[in-house]
Amino acid sequence: MKDANFLKANNARSIWHPMTAPSDSLNNPPTIITGASGVRIRDVDGHEVVDAVGGLWNVNLGYSCQPVKDAIAAQLDALPYYSIFRGTSNDKVIELAEVLRDFFAPDGLTRAFYTSGGSDSVETALRLARQYHKIRGDAGRVKYLSLKKGYHGTHFGGASVNGNANFRTAYEPLLPGCHHIPAPYTYRNPFNETDPERLAQLCLAALEDEIAFQGAGTIAAMIMEPILGAGGVIPPHPSFMPGVAAICRKNGILLIADEVITAFGRTGAWTGSRLWGVKPDFTCTAKAITNAFFPFGAVMIAEAVAEVFEKDETGKAAIGHGYTYSGHPVGAAAALACLAETKRLNVIENAAARGTQLHEGMKALQARHSLIGDVRGGHGLMCAMELVSDRATKKPADKAVLARVQETAYRSGAMVRVSGPNIILSPPLVLTAADVEVILSALDAG
Ligand code: PLP
Repeated sequence: MKDANFLKANNARSIWHPMTAPSDSLNNPPTIITGASGVRIRDVDGHEVVDAVGGLWNVNLGYSCQPVKDAIAAQLDALPYYSIFRGTSNDKVIELAEVLRDFFAPDGLTRAFYTSGGSDSVETALRLARQYHKIRGDAGRVKYLSLKKGYHGTHFGGASVNGNANFRTAYEPLLPGCHHIPAPYTYRNPFNETDPERLAQLCLAALEDEIAFQGAGTIAAMIMEPILGAGGVIPPHPSFMPGVAAICRKNGILLIADEVITAFGRTGAWTGSRLWGVKPDFTCTAKAITNAFFPFGAVMIAEAVAEVFEKDETGKAAIGHGYTYSGHPVGAAAALACLAETKRLNVIENAAARGTQLHEGMKALQARHSLIGDVRGGHGLMCAMELVSDRATKKPADKAVLARVQETAYRSGAMVRVSGPNIILSPPLVLTAADVEVILSALDAG
């Protein structure tokens, strides 16, 4: 490894970081991470902390996870790459599809389309949704609905359905025909409604209004995260996603569950859709499918949707979409090992127990720190605290305050993430009760 001074001096000279102004990297040099094991990361100066971000919501099993590392190494020897475009397949993607089929059977999803990450999965589902309607002779269904505050990756389709101006404005005009519904965000909403169940009903009514306004026959799909993640960890009332599913079904609109964060145990259930008892038409996955050790994803497809493609007699079902790395055998091998380990460790139990501990601890911090306006969580290991400068007016805290809290937490033993006015926590699902206490006391210090 190059020495610390070389790394620090050269980072901003030639790297543009995602989601960062280039000048910001110059003025506030990033922490350079050079090692990790278990649930801890280590920086170039040797400072070690609990990773309360879990990579980027994706290192569910921690950094050591030897079975996934071994599977990657073995696959690199056996078959490092071959494409699965028309005419070829590979043993690992077939084996993985069978495992995914079992894993997603309770969600009613039986086919896999492989991708190389979350944005690719979203793009795939958006495209296949339009194609589904075209095959069925319903070609006027081209629009998309989504939630304000939703995050669906960075491709033009995903950015178009994103519900946060920060990810859109610089790249507009985006895809036409994308319409956004109010999110069931109890702390701030246009209805000034503080009761989660009544708010869910108001948001569902807004969805119905928008469908009536656009015309149901013009809408291809609604995409949503079962729990809004990057938008600030916003768990809806349990009636919300089933309500969305029922409205979509009634109007012939496909439901795409964006489970890039929530699949594979993060919410304390195996999938976010299962947490709410919903069977979507498509489920987008990526991130924890390989524990982040290989860029990989899969869109899972419902049986009824799959049949429309498979039984097509119109000649419109050829999938003119796919990625060079769709079905990468090394990614598939990593995913197979990761899913086996995820099930063996039964991570949902620990995610639920540690999630409750973290959420309760954050509420205790809120009682002591007036800076914490809202604490959200309660479903596995995805939590957030929203910082304000004044609890009465709910004025969001300054960026400098959030940066200070993050920096102090880091110096005190935990890496946390700042997103808008929120401190977001999404640690590995295998962390211990003692690790949770480290995170809480690091936040307390901030
Ligand atoms: N969808 C959701 C819900 C996400 O949280 C993300 C990334 O955080 C994406 C899609 C995009 O995934 P990727 O960054 O792997 O392209």
